[in-house]
Amino acid sequence: MRPPVAIGALGGTIASTSSATDGTEIVPTLTAQRLAAAVPGLAEIATVRAETLAQLPSPSLDEPTVMRTLAWAQAAVDDGAHGVVITQGTDTLEESAYLLDLFWDRPEPLVVTGAMRSPQAAGADGPANLLTAVRCAVAEGSRERGVLVAFDDELHQARWVAKTDSMSTSAFRSAVFGPIGRCVEGEVVYGVPPGRVPALRVPPGQRAGDPRVPLVATYLGDDGYVLEALLAGGLDRIDGVVIAGFGAGHVSARMADAVGRLAGELPVVFASRTGSGPTGRAMYGYPGSEIDLLARGAVGAGWLSPVKARLLLWALALRGPVGPADVAAEFELRGRP
Ligand code: ASP
Repeated sequence: MRPPVAIGALGGTIASTSSATDGTEIVPTLTAQRLAAAVPGLAEIATVRAETLAQLPSPSLDEPTVMRTLAWAQAAVDDGAHGVVITQGTDTLEESAYLLDLFWDRPEPLVVTGAMRSPQAAGADGPANLLTAVRCAVAEGSRERGVLVAFDDELHQARWVAKTDSMSTSAFRSAVFGPIGRCVEGEVVYGVPPGRVPALRVPPGQRAGDPRVPLVATYLGDDGYVLEALLAGGLDRIDGVVIAGFGAGHVSARMADAVGRLAGELPVVFASRTGSGPTGRAMYGYPGSEIDLLARGAVGAGWLSPVKARLLLWALALRGPVGPADVAAEFELRGRP
């Protein structure tokens, strides 16, 4: 008996087809069963149960869909699956994988994958990525690693991986830390031992409405206009703000003042918009620097990218209003390797 693996499909390019003769205008159409059936050799490595959870382009996925996917994956493991694979669009894959990772409380592997080329394209990468993901899901060495992303034969940790190319089939990269494993000649090989930060608990009961945590990217000449608009519009509909700052997490002197006023009302986290490297703590002292923003009550995201910092703050806010000390402690724990 091959190890049981559950595959949940959410849509994306991996499941997208076209009725046009030139293969343009693709949209998600394929079911999870069709995706699994198109992978040569899959039946030899796993007994697959495939379920279509959504058929969405990944820009239209949202946090509630990901949380439902989490519950589905947990139920699959409770039913005996040795591992779970989620297929989805690549555009937001780095985000859903991280949101799943924050709450994935099982030793079994949960592996997310997708494709850059549609199933009808020459050299479609979906079947290869799905095969790698299933191999990863059944490998003993994949246990106790949280959520992994399988792409282009590489295995990445959900918290560091990012889509770094809009078109290439090797679109995913883990800046600084690199991939933690590879799938070579069908064997899953890891370069680092298992281990992970403890999962967050999904709070019992539903809070009224989902948290809303906007992400505000800064830019040359930013005078804090967007933050001022948030402050002027009333803060009762938002639970926190993440700022994608320059360099090690900096903003302009004019924007720093708005950050301080906002941080007096809500959790404010600043991250680096560079795509690699952590926020600073102790280097720069000018208005808008990391030292200044910390003194004004904002929290540094550490090594988490802006989109991942936003998801961590969203996940913390799921419990209800969260204080600055808790936010700082969670980013300290989860924002570093
Ligand atoms: N370009 C995307 C993909 O690779 C489309 C999406 O994210 O749904 O799947």
